[in-house]
Amino acid sequence: MDTILDNLNPEQLAAVTLPSQSALILAGAGSGKTRVLTTRIAWLLKTGQVSTSGIMAVTFTNKAAKEMLSRLSVMFPVNARGMWIGTFHGLCNRLLRTHYQDAALPQSFNILDSQDQLSTVKRLLKTNNIDDDKYPPRNLVYFINHAKESGYRASHVEPQDDYERKMVELYSLYEDQCQREGVVDFAELLLRSYELLERNQTLREHYQDRFRHILVDEFQDTNNLQYKWLKLLAGNDSSIFAVGDDDQSIYAFRGANVGNMLSFQQDFNVQNLIRLEQNYRSHGNILEAANTLIAHNRNRLGKNLHTDAGEGEPIRICEAPSDLNEVQWILEEVNHLIREGMERKQIAVLYRSNAQSRVIEHGLFSAGIPYRVYGGLRFFERAEIKHAIAYLQLIDNPANNAAFLRVVNFPARGIGARTIENLQEMARMHDISLFEAIPYVSGKGGTALGSFIRLIQSIRAEVQPMNLPTLIQTVLEKSGLMMHYQTEKEGADRLENLEQLVSAAMLFLSEEGFSQEAPALMTEAVTPAGEKSMLTVDEVMDADVPLSMIMSPLSAFLTHASLEAGENQAQEGQDALQLMTVHSAKGLEFDAVFITGLEEGLFPHENSAREDGGLEEERRLMYVAITRARKRLYLSYAQTRMLHGHMRYNVSSRFVAELPDKTMKWLTPKKQSSYLNPRHEPTARFDQSSVPQMQAPASFHKNSEWRIGETVIHKKFGEGVIVGLEGQGANVRANINFGRHGMKLLDLSIAKLEHA
Ligand code: ATP
Ligand code: MG
Repeated sequence: MDTILDNLNPEQLAAVTLPSQSALILAGAGSGKTRVLTTRIAWLLKTGQVSTSGIMAVTFTNKAAKEMLSRLSVMFPVNARGMWIGTFHGLCNRLLRTHYQDAALPQSFNILDSQDQLSTVKRLLKTNNIDDDKYPPRNLVYFINHAKESGYRASHVEPQDDYERKMVELYSLYEDQCQREGVVDFAELLLRSYELLERNQTLREHYQDRFRHILVDEFQDTNNLQYKWLKLLAGNDSSIFAVGDDDQSIYAFRGANVGNMLSFQQDFNVQNLIRLEQNYRSHGNILEAANTLIAHNRNRLGKNLHTDAGEGEPIRICEAPSDLNEVQWILEEVNHLIREGMERKQIAVLYRSNAQSRVIEHGLFSAGIPYRVYGGLRFFERAEIKHAIAYLQLIDNPANNAAFLRVVNFPARGIGARTIENLQEMARMHDISLFEAIPYVSGKGGTALGSFIRLIQSIRAEVQPMNLPTLIQTVLEKSGLMMHYQTEKEGADRLENLEQLVSAAMLFLSEEGFSQEAPALMTEAVTPAGEKSMLTVDEVMDADVPLSMIMSPLSAFLTHASLEAGENQAQEGQDALQLMTVHSAKGLEFDAVFITGLEEGLFPHENSAREDGGLEEERRLMYVAITRARKRLYLSYAQTRMLHGHMRYNVSSRFVAELPDKTMKWLTPKKQSSYLNPRHEPTARFDQSSVPQMQAPASFHKNSEWRIGETVIHKKFGEGVIVGLEGQGANVRANINFGRHGMKLLDLSIAKLEHA
């Protein structure tokens, strides 16, 4: 027993061993919140206060859930697979699969990822002849998700004006369409399971009774519906153990509500508010930088972190003339760290926007340094994989029209747009799926559709007895996908990816405890040992039942593809540099961290200026970034950067100016004070021969209302960026880059410029 509690400080120990009441652990980054949460689970189990089935733990990513399970099994021998540890989406999926009938879903419902959701909405607008300039698909998606995350069905939303009335109407049509096609989007997973528990008293009481301990990590990022869901699931005798850090709340744009922390204290009558203030992750300089930075925010619950570790290395900061030079510098430093013996996977390069990763990837690739990108275009989002998945979905659930439309004419089988329109019309008229409507289409189109239906049916018959990897292999071949990419010029990579899909399936089966040999399509469950067992819903509800007893291997794998697999794309285990956005670095830690692109407009992001509290959210994001580092922290920015096809002329981020001087070491000549005045001399450090030369501007021009780097608007030339200023007072002239109109030197007392 003692061993699991041995390495805790007194506050952590108090938190781990709290009595069974709801509690809030409010603590800064690296103070051991996640560790406390995991240790508490082990402690509850070990002291016999609860059995594994009485515990539910919510983590922010599937990766975090896996890690928690593996740490748990070190502390305590648990049947990990059956435990309810996962993300909100993962846990809701589990509820819905178990109670699909009560939730009014087909057993093999498919999950729409965000890309699928967007195309579903586009299709909806098209079939209803809606002008998508007036009602842009993305706005509708946002509207729907926002409504769902607030707990509203279309019938609950009261439109304020005609525009909203139309949006609500479309939302309602979207609901019907998804229901018909047996698909649910991410927000629906939550809303549907919330409604299931709310309406069904027996089920609700069962789970309330079962889950005595609900533990939630990263609580600051829960949205309103997730909070309501937790409230519903917690019975009178349950306790919720929430850990979080208001300073790390970075998902307000997705509806997360830090206010939940305050509501939680009231709603659950929280007597135990524990603060952890000792940081175990970062060396002193890094921690001091984080503390000083976040102190610029006003809206805080307030706390400070200290560490027993020494100051450590200073934070190294570099101003590069261009983004290419920035990468060059990162490469030098990375090589240096590797020579010192640091593992590549202990080094993370963080950026604010995905678009920044391209140059970094290019640099790493050219230098032959293995790397892994989190986020970005994920394996399961690639076109060829989406096609393969669509075939698999059709075999799993023929009513899935989105899947149908994706592959009905891919590879090309001479089925034209006309035929498809015709088919959609028939499906609408008879209120059936596209698949079922095929016999109603006549003519040449009908014949082509007929062979498609026969193809799918014959594949479906053929794969009945097959295990998942063989099934996938067969589908890849019989669908014609393999052949298609074999003949395509640039198809080699895509073929390789398709083959990886088969390996991904094998890995998935073994990780999730499915039998490798079990037929992938069977509906009755099979235990990991391979014997058949038909479990009743009651049995499933009462026990720690692994997913393999609730879903067929194929359904489970498809769920995995939509929900889980996106978090990383390279093989685990390989020693590779880690590239990711700051958002996806949450909760992680690395020996060395590079925060790149610290430029006004990029980080803080320009959009943040337009939103209430936007800048504070950006600063929290910077706080998250800094606190990922254990030993080394590197900051960088570039005076010029190509982004989205435009050259940007930058000034350094205000966040750089907000960091304490004494923690930093400038690797390029130090700038004069604030981010508004980053005057500099060209540096000798960069080998300019290898990178394109840029005019190096970025100084704040005194006595002028204009600023280098600023975007301005000219009546005739449109938008441009000031890249140089000369003269004083009434004689100021500006060199302005007007994009396709080229560079102009304008006398500002004559030219009528406006600030953008
Ligand atoms: P974040 O806010 O970034 O999610 P956190 O508060 O969840 O951070 P953890 O990830 O749990 O922090 O812990 C940070 C690091 O400190 C981990 O490496 C953890 O193992 C270590 N740690 C936590 N508590 C202790 C302790 N009492 N003694 C030694 N190391 C500890
Ligand atoms: Mg954590």
